[in-house]
Amino acid sequence: MTAPTKNPTPTVSDTHPPALPVGTRNAGLQGLTEFVEHMGTAYAQSRNYDLGQGQHRHVSKLSPYLRHRLLSEEEVVRAAINAHGPAASEKFVQEVIWRSYFKGWLEQRPQVWTQFRYGLERDLDTVASDPAVSARLKAAENGRTGLPYFNEWIRELHTTGYLHNHARMWFASIWIFTLGLPWRLGADLFLRQLLDGDAASNTCSWRWVAGLHTRGKTYQATAQNIATFTNGRFAPADADLAQTAPALVIEEPDGLPPLVPLRQVAAPKVNVPTLLLATADDCQLDARSLSTLNITGVARLPSAHMRSPRAVAAHVRRFEDQALTDACADLAKSHEVATVTTPGDLVKIAQLNGAHQIVHPYATVGPLRDWLDSARPTLDANSLPLCEWQRDWDREIWPFCTAGFFKVKKRLPQLLQQLGLTKTVGDN
Ligand SMILES: Cc1cc2nc3c(=O)[nH]c(=O)nc-3n(C[C@H](O)[C@H](O)[C@H](O)COP(=O)(O)OP(=O)(O)OC[C@H]3O[C@@H](n4cnc5c(N)ncnc54)[C@H](O)[C@@H]3O)c2cc1C
Repeated sequence: MTAPTKNPTPTVSDTHPPALPVGTRNAGLQGLTEFVEHMGTAYAQSRNYDLGQGQHRHVSKLSPYLRHRLLSEEEVVRAAINAHGPAASEKFVQEVIWRSYFKGWLEQRPQVWTQFRYGLERDLDTVASDPAVSARLKAAENGRTGLPYFNEWIRELHTTGYLHNHARMWFASIWIFTLGLPWRLGADLFLRQLLDGDAASNTCSWRWVAGLHTRGKTYQATAQNIATFTNGRFAPADADLAQTAPALVIEEPDGLPPLVPLRQVAAPKVNVPTLLLATADDCQLDARSLSTLNITGVARLPSAHMRSPRAVAAHVRRFEDQALTDACADLAKSHEVATVTTPGDLVKIAQLNGAHQIVHPYATVGPLRDWLDSARPTLDANSLPLCEWQRDWDREIWPFCTAGFFKVKKRLPQLLQQLGLTKTVGDN
């Protein structure tokens, strides 16, 4: 055990910036090719070890690509099963399914996202009016706590836009239970800094640590666990970490909001002049679906800045910009690609291109969906329906994401078979 260091963690400017992931499908495919051999039993055995910045070889680091769907969940799962078989790749596949589970869960409890956004505004008001909370928040965000491991994670987050899953769990637990900071401010920090920042995975994971997802069950970071799974890189003192982690259920005395039915998608009409709207929720525009449409114009809607009322990291905005450019690359050969920032822009561009419908990939609950919902009255007033493509993957999995993960896990063999990823149920 060591005492907390007195030396502050180097700040971002003290260190050489690492090469950040590039937001293109090709870069994602290269990452997939390189990691596929590790998706079997090696992943199951070693995935929990956080070896530190630049050393994350036991995990795929594919999350920014999956988040923007430069890679699809389906192709990543297919690669794992093809390389190792369903049994040896089970753990990796399950982790990818966690992402789909959180997506489907939030689709059916959108109020949880709305409450998060309102609660965040309230938390920010508290920070503005309470100097003690403000000072604690600044110290945490700038990596100037007395906890060297926490400061190191902040530095890694700021410089790479990535943290290992275990570090995210420890970080969130320490943020809430040791530093006593409001969980939403931590979740917001992650959204602003993570390249893979995602309304569903992030909000639900923070809630899970806080005991709000699996109601009453929290995640408590312990000195022993941190030392073990950082291979002794860190040796926290027990006394530096909160000894209890009481669930924050008191914040939500009424429990979870009721389930709402999955949204019905308005499918695009063929032969109708169409404005195609590229969004960062799904940057693989399906060539087959595109070929059935009469595309008269193309636009892109950047949304990284919508993740938070606070400033979103430049590396997050850059990755999204690259991803949207990549998504539109083929279409840009035949169309000018306009960038949309307001609902008025969207109407203008649609009208300029003689479009009678706007088509975009399904937008899940989160900032982009909020923007599209807020644009709807303006679009309706101009007779411009919004139509969406939905992936079979989401359509098949989401109906089972109504309660805990176990419900989806139990169905996984059937789901994988239905999706054509295994031959028979339980196929090995
Ligand atoms: C507090 C907290 C906040 C998080 N915020 C986000 C977030 O904003 N965006 C995000 O994509 N993930 C989030 N996660 C989940 C998880 O930490 C990351 O998906 C994972 O660390 C990404 O690294 P990887 O690609 O190397 O993962 P790998 O271990 O290689 O896993 C492969 C893929 O499976 C998915 N996945 C793996 N673990 C999880 C998980 N626990 N939950 C959901 N999906 C998972 C990811 O898409 C990942 O790319 C969060 C977890 C915690 C505890």
